[in-house]
Amino acid sequence: MERLVYIDGKLLPESKAKISVFDHGFLYGDGVFEGIRVYSGLIFRLDQHLDRLYESAHTVLLKIPMMRKELGQAIIKTLKANRQKDAYIRLVVSRGVGDLGLDPNKCKTPTIVIITNSITLYPSKLYEDGLKIITVPTVRNIPEALNPQLKTLNYLNNILAKIEASNSGFVEALMLNHQGYVAECTGDNIFMVKRGVVTTPPVYVGALPGITRGAIIDLITKPGLVKTGNLPKKFEERLLTRHDLYNADEVFLTGTAAELIPVVEIDGRMIGSGEPGPVTRSLMKGFRELTRKDGVKYAV
Ligand code: PMP
Repeated sequence: MERLVYIDGKLLPESKAKISVFDHGFLYGDGVFEGIRVYSGLIFRLDQHLDRLYESAHTVLLKIPMMRKELGQAIIKTLKANRQKDAYIRLVVSRGVGDLGLDPNKCKTPTIVIITNSITLYPSKLYEDGLKIITVPTVRNIPEALNPQLKTLNYLNNILAKIEASNSGFVEALMLNHQGYVAECTGDNIFMVKRGVVTTPPVYVGALPGITRGAIIDLITKPGLVKTGNLPKKFEERLLTRHDLYNADEVFLTGTAAELIPVVEIDGRMIGSGEPGPVTRSLMKGFRELTRKDGVKYAV
């Protein structure tokens, strides 16, 4: 059976799920989105994803024409229609159909799309061996221009960085902010571990407040959240330079699609022992356990 895609209240077969060429999501990248994972019938941290979606929409003055609860139900309806218990959900709200001018006021109704699919960002070997990444020339968007804390359809900043990494033979790029501080990667947040302390940059440097990032912080700062032992206990948020990362004991990335992935080399500098470290491994285990219990449940 063909996959069903939700568009504006209707479930349509994938081949018939089309949007207008006049949609400002297509013409201008005018819209917001979320990537959400489902683990064994549990939608991981759905409430937090919806919070972020509605907050991004609020800031760009896009009024989502659906109550939060209804939108959550539409996601569940789409998952059920596709009989999916494990999935990667793409939830998109664009400004909607307008004319060829920029004016968002000409777009009368936002377009809502829900795609329930699957995703494998990196081959499983990279989770065992760790990733090598490189700093790219393109810096993260300046918050005063387009704040990276918003999850909007404008991803060209990240895409340029991804192309630069890929042209140099790397699958992921380290992005700095305009002042040279570590911001994040193209689709993941970054953490480092040194002498048992887990550190990540504050989002105001120019990073998305990742839901996975939040889950990792919770695993460290809320003891007893999961049964997994040996989780680190110390966490701090502070400005990081590349020098800090190069000399860390461990580095790892977090994201809904990537989950947790160790980094073993940055710009040709080996990180720690050059192998995924014990703190990263324990957090990977803790995170896996968390995804099996922290979510909105539905029956297929
Ligand atoms: N940073 C960027 C730029 C992202 O696009 C993402 C999501 N892919 C993340 C960080 C991680 O956020 P989350 O954990 O909510 O998926």
